Amino acid sequence: MNDQMTPAMRQYYEAKETYPDALIFFRMGDFYESFGEDAKTIAKELEITLTARGKDRAGERMPLAGIPYHAIDTYLPRLINKGYKVAICEQLEDPKQAKGVVKRGVVRVVTPGTAIDSSMFSDASNNYLMAVAGREAGKAGKTGKGEEKEKEKEKEKEMEFGVSFLDISTGEFLTTQFRDSDSFEKLLSEIARMHPAECILPPSLYGNSRLLARLREQTIVQEFAPGLSELAEAGEKLKTHFKVATLEGMGCEGMELAVYSAWAALEYAKTTQMRDLAHINTLRTYSNSEFMILDSVTLRNLEIAKNVRDDGDENSLFRILNSTRTPMGSRTLKKWLLKPLLSVEKANLRLDAVEELAGDALLRYDLRDWLSDVRDIERLVGRVVYGNSNARDLVALKKSLAAVPPIRDCLREKAGAGLLEECAEELAAFSELETLVDLIENAIGEEPPVSVREGGMIKQGYSAELDELRDIASNSKQWIAAFQQKERDRSGIKSLKVGYNRVFGYYIEVTNANNAQVPDDYIRKQTMANAERFFTPELKEKESLILTANEKAVALEYEIFTEITRTLAACSKELQKTAERIGTLDVLANLAEAAENNNYVRPQLTEDCKILIRDGRHPVVENTVPGGFVPNDTEMDCKEKQFLLVTGPNMAGKSTYMRQTALIAIMAQAGSFVPASHASIGVVDQVFTRIGAFDDLASGQSTFMVEMVELANILNNASPKSLVLLDEIGRGTSTYDGYSIAKAVVEYLHNRGKVGVRALFATHYHQLTALEEKLKRVKNYHIAVKEEGHELVFLRKIVPGATDRSYGIHVARLAGVPEKVIDRANEILKELERENLLEEAEEGENGKRKKGKAATRYTQMMLFDPGSGGGGSQAQANRQSPVEVALKRLNVDEMTPLEALNKLHELKKMLG
Ligand code: ADP
Repeated sequence: MNDQMTPAMRQYYEAKETYPDALIFFRMGDFYESFGEDAKTIAKELEITLTARGKDRAGERMPLAGIPYHAIDTYLPRLINKGYKVAICEQLEDPKQAKGVVKRGVVRVVTPGTAIDSSMFSDASNNYLMAVAGREAGKAGKTGKGEEKEKEKEKEKEMEFGVSFLDISTGEFLTTQFRDSDSFEKLLSEIARMHPAECILPPSLYGNSRLLARLREQTIVQEFAPGLSELAEAGEKLKTHFKVATLEGMGCEGMELAVYSAWAALEYAKTTQMRDLAHINTLRTYSNSEFMILDSVTLRNLEIAKNVRDDGDENSLFRILNSTRTPMGSRTLKKWLLKPLLSVEKANLRLDAVEELAGDALLRYDLRDWLSDVRDIERLVGRVVYGNSNARDLVALKKSLAAVPPIRDCLREKAGAGLLEECAEELAAFSELETLVDLIENAIGEEPPVSVREGGMIKQGYSAELDELRDIASNSKQWIAAFQQKERDRSGIKSLKVGYNRVFGYYIEVTNANNAQVPDDYIRKQTMANAERFFTPELKEKESLILTANEKAVALEYEIFTEITRTLAACSKELQKTAERIGTLDVLANLAEAAENNNYVRPQLTEDCKILIRDGRHPVVENTVPGGFVPNDTEMDCKEKQFLLVTGPNMAGKSTYMRQTALIAIMAQAGSFVPASHASIGVVDQVFTRIGAFDDLASGQSTFMVEMVELANILNNASPKSLVLLDEIGRGTSTYDGYSIAKAVVEYLHNRGKVGVRALFATHYHQLTALEEKLKRVKNYHIAVKEEGHELVFLRKIVPGATDRSYGIHVARLAGVPEKVIDRANEILKELERENLLEEAEEGENGKRKKGKAATRYTQMMLFDPGSGGGGSQAQANRQSPVEVALKRLNVDEMTPLEALNKLHELKKMLG
């Protein structure tokens, strides 16, 4: 290093060398400074001034950008949200007391997935760090090494993955492991559902460029090696962290990859937070086979948690349903919607509870009223255990916990549904809850300051020692006056004075004239021109008490506060469990409220493959259409109505209809009532969608390519229990291509396995509807419209049977396309209809039904234009054949029957 560098700059470079991939926030007095390239980045990203000062290692002017320390909560999230890592380098000692340069060191590294400050994320969502481990299926031991690019895709198919999600702010920690022919898609689907803020990969996976690219489309990805030589070591480390002898209780004993990924997540969190993370005290193993699979495309298309337009939650299913009263409730609701259940029994437990709360308005009202007092217990506890809580957090926690006993008691008294009872009992099992509430109530004032180092937090009466200290500090004047009086009385010196100066402290001053009367126990302190100053052991003792009382009081308050947080932290498991139960109750009451407000019914869930919905509505669209929503039925089964081909003009409501069917299934399996007058749903294991067309510009794929990639996924993975929604398949290519693909897809899905796949297929190829006659489980439906003059009236009603037109031009008129273009389009349409090529293709295949018409057309072409090969243009038809010319010249009226017969022979000869 450069010798001329200041000691502070030396510290900076040390930090930078330890954390080369992080931006360094270097605390200097009231500022966090950044230097060099970091400064340039920060100045650009935060739009703050870039200056220069001193010299860098190369002797150049050093770029510098700084933010005031108190503004860190504003600036830091902006950098983190853009995917930067920031290392916070703090002053480790009080600059006033430092000898020489103030000691500094990095106290934490903030990354998107390990952020703990509430300013970094929203209440309604978890902030997950995701860790992935993977290997080729069948191989054990170390994680697989990076593969050659060409082989990567092949290998992905055979990959086995362990995946963990850790939310440091709430302590939630989940893990799973899966191995499948499409485990790569499953991994992506997990990301889409869990929406992690950051994902870490071991070097072996980080080297897989295709995997990396796909992950990067969805989240921020970092390479991280937890430094283990063997996979098995991860299990030992986890056991040590959780202080358990086996991981069996957590459900992941023997799941090497799951365990490895869990350890990687925890280790990454620990290294960035630089502390023990004791609040992460349990790991839960889940299996994807418990939940309906919703891949990223489907989540997006159905707008479950976010809308397609701006990724916000407006107009999403979540937004429509969410009126939860607590952040835990809101997060739980999102999880339920993103992971609908496959078990009828488990879904019914939720539905029973929702039904009871929907039917008991009073109980629901009380419950929701109490829930309104509950704040984010999960994150408050997270902060308490983590050690960055303040007294306000404790007050919030107290108020939240104080609402738990009434919730528990009203449920115990009134609730009958199993899940409600279970929640009430689990809340009741936390016996220390009331003691904790009392503890905070007795100790912490109602409106404490933000800082925990400046006193003012602890209530009078909680600690005798603190009260005395405060007494001393605030009553020192009275005490001095009383002491002065006492000494005057004792010595008889009327002019005796007790005073104070900064150098000598408190003293008793006696003028020289009264020297003789000075009591024996006075000790000389200072001699003045005409007086002596003394002290007594009592005054000395008081002096040190008074001088330090304030300081001591502040320190004692902090000590008491920390003691209380320790007591709370010791119950963190129970507190987190309480938070989770509150979240569950909140969602149940919320779903009941939604059911009542929106006129939903309880769905029946069955193990068969039928779907029967009466008067189904789209839960989101029904709130937005001005003229009122028209309900529709859906009937599907595996015998006759497995494949519904839905035709109808654009804008008629086809995709709304298809989506509402899927959304109703999702809601039902999530445990919600549904928008219908009756719904019976044969459990759906996965919803697949291919809806709409948007270019995936980010990944450089064309619309049609995106469409085909999604289609391939559907065709390869849909099972008889899946529900497939296909909207306008084949639109992105030429008519013939598109039609051929669409038709092949219908046939494939219909004939897949023994029973085929349940599917709703909206298409503008109305010719496809002829398939109803060929494929026995295909049923045609269309959305009714009425034509009034030039206008189309959308009736929004789904009815059996097919349409024979697509009405695109009508829609163009509605959209305001100029009349001239509309007229011309109509002309062109007429011409095309005359040629009617696609229809002819269908006629050929369905020979029986339209044989007559097809045969006539074919004969006419042969008669008049044998050389044309079946081309049907007007010009060709006008070219006259010799037979035609001869026929035209005949005067049939003047011919005898014999002549006619001879002529016929002749004509036949001409034809050869
Ligand atoms: P398509 O897929 O046939 O082009 P959409 O499903 O996109 O049509 O529906 C077009 C619009 O029609 C929707 O945005 C909605 O406003 C309205 N709509 C759809 N279905 C209904 C319905 N059942 N009742 C009332 N309005 C509806």
